[in-house]
Amino acid sequence: MADIEIVEGDITRQEVDAIVNAANSTLLGGGGVDGAIHAAAGPALLAECRQLRATRYPDGLPVGEAVATGAGELPARWVIHTVGPNRHAGQVDPELLASAFRTSLGEAERIGATSVALPAVSAGVYGWDRDTVARIAIDTARAHRGPQLRTVRFVLFGPAVFAAFDEAARA
Ligand code: ADP
Repeated sequence: MADIEIVEGDITRQEVDAIVNAANSTLLGGGGVDGAIHAAAGPALLAECRQLRATRYPDGLPVGEAVATGAGELPARWVIHTVGPNRHAGQVDPELLASAFRTSLGEAERIGATSVALPAVSAGVYGWDRDTVARIAIDTARAHRGPQLRTVRFVLFGPAVFAAFDEAARA
């Protein structure tokens, strides 16, 4: 089982093999952590995402799925894009959120990452409460079994969401 780490910080600065992006289905960038990742990675990341839209995902990346690209100018080697459920759009099934975390860890294994950093997917604009996100994220990470991943690091932006994850990790 991988070590689970909980840190407060900016995911774009993480020196890990892969960072997970809380993207939207278009894969073409957005606000929040998505905007921060694209800004820090530079145009190469958007170019790769456009390529994915032109090939594998003409209708966008479905909610609960994950796909990896390179990471442009980020310290990480890969960005794994996932789409969490949007509560404001009626996507209230916790399994969709668990799937976003689970498929992100699966994609990390598939590409050969040994360390991955993840944000609090759906805890921002997509409107899920931070305690629910934290519990689902930690449960999913604990259930993960894979040959390569040694470090699963949740990188939380701000003290409130950090505290929610810290509490879930102690439970
Ligand atoms: P979603 O649309 O999935 O809710 P958001 O980006 O709006 O995604 O928010 C998800 C979480 O990411 C929120 O807790 C937000 O505070 C956090 N976040 C924003 N910027 C960063 C960053 N640079 N590093 C880590 N987390 C971030």
